[in-house]
Amino acid sequence: MPEPLINLTIKKIMDLMTKIISLCKRRGFVFPSSEIYGGFSAVYDLGPYGVELANNIKKEWWKVMVQEREDIVGLDSAIFMHPKIWEASGHVSGFADPLTECKKCNGRLRVDHLLEGINIFADEKMTEEEINQLFDKHKGEIKCPNCGKNDWTKVKKFSLLVKANLGNFTDDWSRDPVYLRGETCQGIYVNYLNVLDSNRVKIPFGIAQIGKAFRNEITARQFIFRTIEFEQMEMQYFCSPAQEMEEYEKLRQNRWQYYLNLGISEKNLKWHKHENLVFYAKEAYDIEYNFPFGFKELEGIHARGNYDLSQHGKFSGVILDYADPKTKKKYIPHIIESSVGVGRTMLAVLTEAFNEEQVKEGEIRTVLKFPARLAPIKAAVFPLLGNKPELAEKARNIFNDLKKVFQVEFDDSGNIGKRYRRQDEIGTLYCITIDFESLEKNTVTVRDRDTMQQERVNITELKQFLTDKITKASSY
Ligand code: ATP
Repeated sequence: MPEPLINLTIKKIMDLMTKIISLCKRRGFVFPSSEIYGGFSAVYDLGPYGVELANNIKKEWWKVMVQEREDIVGLDSAIFMHPKIWEASGHVSGFADPLTECKKCNGRLRVDHLLEGINIFADEKMTEEEINQLFDKHKGEIKCPNCGKNDWTKVKKFSLLVKANLGNFTDDWSRDPVYLRGETCQGIYVNYLNVLDSNRVKIPFGIAQIGKAFRNEITARQFIFRTIEFEQMEMQYFCSPAQEMEEYEKLRQNRWQYYLNLGISEKNLKWHKHENLVFYAKEAYDIEYNFPFGFKELEGIHARGNYDLSQHGKFSGVILDYADPKTKKKYIPHIIESSVGVGRTMLAVLTEAFNEEQVKEGEIRTVLKFPARLAPIKAAVFPLLGNKPELAEKARNIFNDLKKVFQVEFDDSGNIGKRYRRQDEIGTLYCITIDFESLEKNTVTVRDRDTMQQERVNITELKQFLTDKITKASSY
């Protein structure tokens, strides 16, 4: 096994981030939005390998959260919802970030982030007035990260909700706005009764959903870590007041284990306990990942009490009580939630997988060592020489056979070394080469991405060989 060239923990932060961003663009994982028009800030498009990786991440999450659970069902609610939902949830009045502007370079920055940089932690519940006072006290110590100057405007709270003019045929956007959802879980809460009435579910049970969310983020500058349009994977678990904390502990343990099973090393994960809880919350933890720019939130796991259903009960006028089938006692279910972004998971998986190795004197290979289930391409099929019809035909037959089961690629261009390097950079697990011996003995060489070792495998056994390798891969 080749030695890693550089120990990532001591690498320069931006160096690694720049390399990941550049690889993502070069190889078709992530593209900046609207690039031919000069770009569109904080929005990204997924390229051919990016969409495969994202789909594999979502498949994995769904498998663990829904398929393998008898007590959790899936949902796909719409992005547009009744605007009152966002009043009930508190988003219209409270979903706002504190913003300041650097008077020198006009850079807009989040005040809570600037304060965090000098180890002052603002409370989420603070009013504009309170956060202004706190910022006034400390702003002399804070330099603008863009231009290094120290001249700030007053703090303003800036709503994160994105408005749409749906059904509004006037030019006044502020009138009766409809919102693009700021989080997917509200769609779960308002369907709680539908799921209860139409499915054989009993408390405790969960509803899981994957979908887009939109936020007017002020500082969205960390690639796919923070974007204004993103995809969330959320699971809301409904339980009795007495079950809440026990179920919460179970959920925390499950989610930690999930990341280890995803091939994330434990040293790169950390719990962060929220000290300043919103008034209704019982407990809140984030799982943080060691991104190239440091430990930051990957997932939130919160015990939310009965706030969400109480609010929707109040605002809709519909009774959302649950009647316990045994005791007949009625109560408003309490909710624990797990909430994570697809983009943030992708960035964690890419950071974890990114390796540079010295293969020979003066030769470095870049390889994405994705766990088998997440790898966008499972195998690439190469005829040794592209211009030999008998090799090409045999390779095509193998490719056509494998593509029914796995995501595979065919490549007959350039020398074999170049083809290997390209596949290493996109994290393909195996490269299968059809050579002259293949014509005589019906065998191929299979090269392992991580060890670069090759072995000969009979073509009739190839599908089973790959299935065994992929399902038994050690990191899974
Ligand atoms: P942050 O403090 O980083 O802004 P948050 O606490 O507001 O995040 P939540 O509202 O708890 O985030 O959202 C749950 C999850 O959704 C986050 O853990 C993250 O994985 C993802 N997420 C939230 N905002 C964004 C965003 N703007 N871009 C990408 N992913 C996001």
